[in-house]
Amino acid sequence: MLIKITDFFRNLPKKQCKECGNEMEEQHECYSHTCNSCIEQLQTISK
Ligand SMILES: [Zn+2]
Repeated sequence: MLIKITDFFRNLPKKQCKECGNEMEEQHECYSHTCNSCIEQLQTISK
């Protein structure tokens, strides 16, 4: 059974921020699963 490549990619789940649950843009850097704004907040708290 053939699977269309386009269908395969369409079915991939979007990255979600584990902190706020917002959908994330694909990023080249492998941050964890946290969006930029949450990362900034976490860094601010840890300082
Ligand atoms: Zn977030």
